[in-house]
Amino acid sequence: MHHALWQSVLGEVELTISHAAFTTWFKNTELLDVTDETVTIAVPNIFAKRQFEVKFDKQIKAILEKNDVSPRHVTYAIKTTGKKAISRETTAPQQSQEVTELLGSSSPSLHSQQAAGNGLNPRYTLDNFIVGSSNDLAYTACQAVAADPGVKYNPLFLYGGVGLGKTHLMQAVGNEIARNQPDARILYVSVETFVKEFLESIRFKKKGFSDKYRNVDVLIIDDMQFIAGKEKTQEEFFHTFNALHQANKQIIISSDKPPKSIPTLTERLRSRFEWGMAIDIQMPDFETRCAILSAKASLSGVELGRETIEYLANNIKTNIRELEGALNQLLAYAEMRNVTPDISTAEGLLGNIRHSRPQHLSAKQIIDKTARHFQIDVKEICSAKRDKHIVVPRQIAMYLLRSELHLSFPKIAGELGRKDHTTAIHSVEKIEKAIKLDFLIREQVSEIREKLYA
Ligand code: ADP
Ligand code: MG
Repeated sequence: MHHALWQSVLGEVELTISHAAFTTWFKNTELLDVTDETVTIAVPNIFAKRQFEVKFDKQIKAILEKNDVSPRHVTYAIKTTGKKAISRETTAPQQSQEVTELLGSSSPSLHSQQAAGNGLNPRYTLDNFIVGSSNDLAYTACQAVAADPGVKYNPLFLYGGVGLGKTHLMQAVGNEIARNQPDARILYVSVETFVKEFLESIRFKKKGFSDKYRNVDVLIIDDMQFIAGKEKTQEEFFHTFNALHQANKQIIISSDKPPKSIPTLTERLRSRFEWGMAIDIQMPDFETRCAILSAKASLSGVELGRETIEYLANNIKTNIRELEGALNQLLAYAEMRNVTPDISTAEGLLGNIRHSRPQHLSAKQIIDKTARHFQIDVKEICSAKRDKHIVVPRQIAMYLLRSELHLSFPKIAGELGRKDHTTAIHSVEKIEKAIKLDFLIREQVSEIREKLYA
């Protein structure tokens, strides 16, 4: 009887979240017990427990109620089955498909979305965002905005250091709104794109600039800190902002610092940014870091031991991007050497990952060393040549300029003799993706990295 009830809950939940998320969270769950007081649901681990409490509790209660079960509490109990580590070989192809979907590699929808030009990447969802005390406010605000855009928290301003999930959350809101309201016009851009298009619209008297940004229902602008010092663009954005805000269109902004700390931001723009809700995202605490590692590992079809997870979480405290990077390296290494990704493998690798970053590393050094690594000429890597043996090194150089020096896309393009910064964006994204899928590229990148810090 419990079984049938749980099946109907599962059936309803499945309709509302992505297939990948459904499989990840709900696969190993069951209904253990039903009393008037309490419904107890078994979940596979501590991490799932937390996600259920934060994300799915309300929905589960609502569905239970529809089925005439109205307990006072729903509790989530951890089911302890001595599950063995799942190796990658045993991962069924179907599961890889889900993993691919969740990790957001080259799924067809990615291309169609990007072709649609709204800037959204379907790999970022609210489902696959792990919530902890460092980001739960931001997550909750994003949920509210996604459910009811333009009503609450307008603008929603997220700020925090690099690699802490700002882009992920904003993109997730966009994707969620797109799913709920397929007709909504949503636009995600980095502020660098806004700046560039604005300047072009003046220089070449191009039409359509203000229409593009004002005829939307949701405008998402990433990395607003780069508008610092650009007075004309700030003025233009001020008008864009007002037009949208007056029409109750949702505006979402991210920045690496709060509005009051962005240098040279005009007073009136600063005050607009403070109209709605400004929330900071911090480095997740130890528990959340463990949760993220455990989720990301199991999405890759690997069950990491508790101590390995704790070891990584203890040693990487900078940001989530690095945490992910360390995990990916560990999994890649283990797969390559055909060993279990355990604590001693992790210890061995971390020495390489935690290289101290010398201050003097320059863009030129990155380009030189990348060119040398591939035995091509610096002139060639900075040329317009499209030969494959030059294109890939060039893309890797762009990727490294971004990951190591955090250069802006126009800067990256400039360093490699390009005028168009979208090439830089595409190159960086392409290598980011390739690192996950292609172990040769991963190796090349980490070899060059080692040379940079040697
Ligand atoms: P930011 O924009 O703040 O620099 P990103 O949104 O690009 O950071 O996040 C860096 C990486 O870490 C991305 O791959 C993102 O998916 C991942 N990430 C960040 N926060 C979380 C989280 N809470 N749960 C899952 N993945 C996360
Ligand atoms: Mg970002």
